[in-house]
Amino acid sequence: MARVKQKGGLIGCGFFAHNHLHAWQEIEGAEIVALCDRDEKRLKEAGEKFGIANLYTDAAKMLASEKLDFVDIATTVATHRPLVELAAKAGVAVICQKPFAETLSDAQAMVDACKTADVPLMVHENFRWQSPIRAVRAVLDAGTLGDIFWGRVSFRSAYDVFSGQPYLATEERFIIQDLGIHILDIARFLFGDVAQLSATTRRVNPAIRGEDVATILLDHETGATSICDCSYATQQPEELFPQTLVEIDGSKGTLRLGANYQMIVHADGQTQTLDVSPKLHAWARRPWHNIQESVFNIERHWTDCLNSGHEPETSGADNLKTMALVFAAYESAAADQKAIDVRRMA
Ligand code: NAD
Repeated sequence: MARVKQKGGLIGCGFFAHNHLHAWQEIEGAEIVALCDRDEKRLKEAGEKFGIANLYTDAAKMLASEKLDFVDIATTVATHRPLVELAAKAGVAVICQKPFAETLSDAQAMVDACKTADVPLMVHENFRWQSPIRAVRAVLDAGTLGDIFWGRVSFRSAYDVFSGQPYLATEERFIIQDLGIHILDIARFLFGDVAQLSATTRRVNPAIRGEDVATILLDHETGATSICDCSYATQQPEELFPQTLVEIDGSKGTLRLGANYQMIVHADGQTQTLDVSPKLHAWARRPWHNIQESVFNIERHWTDCLNSGHEPETSGADNLKTMALVFAAYESAAADQKAIDVRRMA
């Protein structure tokens, strides 16, 4: 018997949602049957481009009129809580884009609302779903490197993100909330939960409001130390946007995920160089293809979870721990790199 498709409604047809919609078209077990955006022009454009006829300017009306299994919220952060609560009240499962919330109490309220309504909630925290990052994790899982004592997750670029996402230039908080959140989530994914952290930030680009450079030192519960460093003010001979580089030292060997998805694993005196390049989907465009592939991967994971009843890897509850790192980093940077006990926050 053919498996029934999960029916979804997408809220927010802006810059990034087009990646969601392209990826949904490739997911066998799900289908986006309705779109919603307050901006009629964007709504109509997305409807025409993706052949979706059921269009709404009001999310409540979409939820009342359509029989949906889930909503995919791709709006910016200020609208996440009302929209997640609306979907929970309607008994509909929810995917919500990052950053999940502007405060930990909003994040907790959304987790609670979905728990009370007994609907699954996943945060679209896609960076850990990049295939090069999964390849790094597979090496850790194989035990090749022994006990991990040090790591670095690094994203340094001078790419103009502001032309596609103008709101990034005007927000009081920029790089940790927008990009560092992904880097911190990768650190949790690779090295485990965090006990304490300290951080520094600075703004190099005078044309923007928030910080565009951050360096965060993490003490993991395993005893490993890691550094998460990110910058949108780093001009290099080769622009690597949007690649995340990883370095790991373990008791038996080392791993380096370097430029252009080349991964070097050195253990037991042997050195292996592996090409862990992401797949280039037909609709994807370099250099974004790495991120676009991760959108496909997380949407497929969500669909598998809905069908199996398993909790998504980046559930709302899980994402509270990543959000705690974001707020702790800002707190530390504001207090002259004070060490923040993260466990009291999450
Ligand atoms: P955007 O401003 O281009 O698009 C947001 C859209 O949502 C707009 O069209 C707006 O009209 C609509 N909207 C806002 N409130 C609404 C509401 N209540 N009901 C219906 N529509 C509403 O923003 P964007 O750049 O696409 O970013 C959206 C989210 O995606 C942000 O949270 C951003 O951080 C995130 N993002 C994630 C990644 C990633 O890799 N995970 C990459 C880029 C952006």
